[in-house]
Amino acid sequence: MKIKKNDQVVVISGEHASPQPRQVLQVLQGGEKIVVQGVNQVYKHVRRGHPKSPAGGRLHMEMPIQSSNVMYYCESCQKPTRLGLRYTLVGAKERFCKKCGTACGSVSPAKAKYSQAGK
Ligand SMILES: [Zn+2]
Repeated sequence: MKIKKNDQVVVISGEHASPQPRQVLQVLQGGEKIVVQGVNQVYKHVRRGHPKSPAGGRLHMEMPIQSSNVMYYCESCQKPTRLGLRYTLVGAKERFCKKCGTACGSVSPAKAKYSQAGK
């Protein structure tokens, strides 16, 4: 799974499916589950003294969903796409959009082993 926190994703299946791109708030269980802004919202009832709601009452929060239900949203295609992994010229691993080829952020720092510089 290549989804990271703060990515834009589109929920493509399950009860929360909608074509609108949304932000990933949290990645859980090694990427198996993710929390997406505005998806799977619940009201949690809390007592007085809760750090996020000192007066008590209802707290609005998102519950995790299966990450297999979302697709990465490519901002240059303006569409949900699949991500690939590739090595850059300096040997860093980066994610890229399989539709348009735009880089979507690096995954690991440059390693000389994978560097194509000087070849
Ligand atoms: Zn793209």
